[in-house]
Amino acid sequence: MIDLSPRLWRGDPMNDAASSLTVVIVGGGFSGAMLAARLAERGQASALIERGDAFGPGVAYSATLDAHRLNVRAERMSALADRPGDFADWLKAHHPDHAAPDGFPPRRLYGLYVAARLAAVEAAHQGLIQRVKGEALAVEGRSVVLSDGRRIEGCTVVLATGNPAPRTAAAGQSPRILPDPWAPGAFDRIQPNDAVLILGSGLTMVDVVLALQARGWRGRATAVSRRGLTPRAHGDHHDAPAALPPEALSGALSQRLAAARKLAREHGWRRLMEGYRPITAGLWRAATTAERARFLRHLRPWWDVHRHRIAPEIAAALDALIAEGRLSVRAGRVSATEVSADIVTLTVSAPGGAAQTLTAAWLIDCTGPGHDAAATPLTAALIAAGRARLDPLKLGLDLDEAGRVLHADGAADPDLFLLGPPARAALWETIAVPDIRQRIETLARALTA
Ligand SMILES: Cc1cc2nc3c(=O)[nH]c(=O)nc-3n(C[C@H](O)[C@H](O)[C@H](O)COP(=O)(O)OP(=O)(O)OC[C@H]3O[C@@H](n4cnc5c(N)ncnc54)[C@H](O)[C@@H]3O)c2cc1C
Repeated sequence: MIDLSPRLWRGDPMNDAASSLTVVIVGGGFSGAMLAARLAERGQASALIERGDAFGPGVAYSATLDAHRLNVRAERMSALADRPGDFADWLKAHHPDHAAPDGFPPRRLYGLYVAARLAAVEAAHQGLIQRVKGEALAVEGRSVVLSDGRRIEGCTVVLATGNPAPRTAAAGQSPRILPDPWAPGAFDRIQPNDAVLILGSGLTMVDVVLALQARGWRGRATAVSRRGLTPRAHGDHHDAPAALPPEALSGALSQRLAAARKLAREHGWRRLMEGYRPITAGLWRAATTAERARFLRHLRPWWDVHRHRIAPEIAAALDALIAEGRLSVRAGRVSATEVSADIVTLTVSAPGGAAQTLTAAWLIDCTGPGHDAAATPLTAALIAAGRARLDPLKLGLDLDEAGRVLHADGAADPDLFLLGPPARAALWETIAVPDIRQRIETLARALTA
């Protein structure tokens, strides 16, 4: 590992010569770290910029609780597209107590695996990965400028910055409203018997309820979301993908949906979702803006809960809380939020029903990661300069098929790529490891061609 001193990276002639061959990667989570590793294995140098303390785990795999499990089976979580058993083998060697290949081990173990793979590649390809600890503020040409003034020169820039921060509309309104459940110490003031209200009923809600439980909390929680849908559970074993007939893949969306429902009745919905998995990005790319908008408006909540599933044991833990009366999930739209010194009150309008008021000691925002690329300084500056643009549905930056950022005029930037969840506008499913590792492989090949 080489630490980059500010002097080395600021206009040092020796460094300039070396850096013209360096890929500059912003973000040292799974996407950035595993791209750097793959590039090194192909003989390509990179500088990996990370503002946090750890290189590798990123947001998802920095979890410390064992209750925070992977939501994809171990046997499908290899970081390498061409070595599918890599993570399962690593578990067997290092954590045999969690080594069931079709199990869902704690996410913290996956963070250790990613960090270990990065370190192993660094050791085998000395000098090819340069870790840079710092916050990237701007991309200028092929350089990245850090908040402390350092400028990292390269031949290409890859943004692997993860999802934008959660929407924090409620932030700062009251200490009773907890806008970021991932913030260190976020739950420290919640007392064991306090009632909590949770905005959102997806994966973040699941993590939060389990984290509270692990802290000895014994109160009641009410989760509210538009449709009141919660993530579905994985089956006992991996479901083989169903073969999708042509009528499920093309034609009017209503006709495709009818074909998919028929298939789900015949083969089970999990097999249907597995069938869609490898071709989702292609279907998304082929869809018109109007079709994408219809999908987002009508189908997305159902897609999300069936596509991003939870481990069966996590689903059982939630069911137990519901059966005890300690967790309830409501469908409705929040029309008002009032906060007094020690109570939060939500007014919720249920679909087709009267407004209800819900009260609790705390309100936790679990609406999930933000998706507003324009709210992140790094990308906001690119958009303002015309070097990037939002896609028509404002899901994120507009990209071409290779992951290159599109300028305001639609031209692809030859030196600027996007990798990981923020590439959703172009690919839709680019969130989970099996999808991202494939993108890493394609990008590594393109950058070393
Ligand atoms: C809670 C949670 C659980 C998940 N569980 C699973 C799972 O079980 N299986 C699965 O396949 N997928 C899971 N995912 C999906 C997950 O998004 C991907 O697996 C993957 O971790 C994404 O990694 P990333 O590197 O793209 O993003 P991130 O993990 O968000 O990493 C981005 C990194 O960039 C850094 N960064 C951002 N901006 C800057 C800047 N300006 N300067 C310097 N550094 C910066 C951040 O500090 C961060 O470390 C989960 C996601 C979450 C949020």
